[in-house]
Amino acid sequence: SPGLYIVATPIGNLGDLSPRAAHILSHAAIIAVEDSRVTAKLLHHIGVKRQMVPYHDHNAEEVRPGLIARMGVEAVALVSDAGTPLISDPGYKLVRDARAAGHTVWTIPGPCAAVAALTLAGLPTDRFLFLGFLPSKAQARAAAIAEVAGIRATLVLYESGPRLAALLAALAEGLGDREAAVTREITKHFEEAVTGTLSELAARYADAPPKGEIVVVVAPPGAPEAASADDADAALTEALTRLS
Ligand code: SAM
Repeated sequence: SPGLYIVATPIGNLGDLSPRAAHILSHAAIIAVEDSRVTAKLLHHIGVKRQMVPYHDHNAEEVRPGLIARMGVEAVALVSDAGTPLISDPGYKLVRDARAAGHTVWTIPGPCAAVAALTLAGLPTDRFLFLGFLPSKAQARAAAIAEVAGIRATLVLYESGPRLAALLAALAEGLGDREAAVTREITKHFEEAVTGTLSELAARYADAPPKGEIVVVVAPPGAPEAASADDADAALTEALTRLS
């Protein structure tokens, strides 16, 4: 049926494209894409040819009204190069305007690097704050970190290899030396999760910027080190009580 379909696509392993996503991509009248070369590969993988319309930060204002008009009469799908559209990717204004125009918006959920990283990190997941990419300039980055330093939640950040060590050092400086995980190339051949304190990780990557795509996950303040120290204290107190 007509409307807007937000379709999540794989973040590495093409096997992660859901049957429902493949079905929508095969039947949509047009697909709004970030980069048509990237989506063409995905469509080729499922043996489909569709009309693609580039939709990215630089042309979105121009292209959006046309897409809104078309979704009143046919199915328009939105994908990004990888993962879930709207998550550090364009799309929220398209959804907003689609709703305002009275069109139906469907989501076809699937891979998202932030959520996948949380499942690998081994850090608390009950409360998390997604920060996407922080500013690359040191001062703006430090300000963004200071703003979240008191928040009792696990932090999730996207970063590129060349900037990773500087980000980790800035996080250690602004948050204290919390436990963290650097997850890399999720669902791909070289997938890994490296854990340690922020300063250990900063030192590890200082002279060896990693290749590939990266998500950094940082423990909330006071956890898990402080939690385990508290546990140890409690256990000791209990043991001493039993002895006396
Ligand atoms: N919309 C995407 C999602 O749902 O995760 C994110 C798009 S954002 C422009 C791209 C960033 O996501 C990369 O720079 C990297 O930080 C992260 N990312 C994407 N795929 C990844 C992967 N396979 N492994 C680790 N990080 C990944």
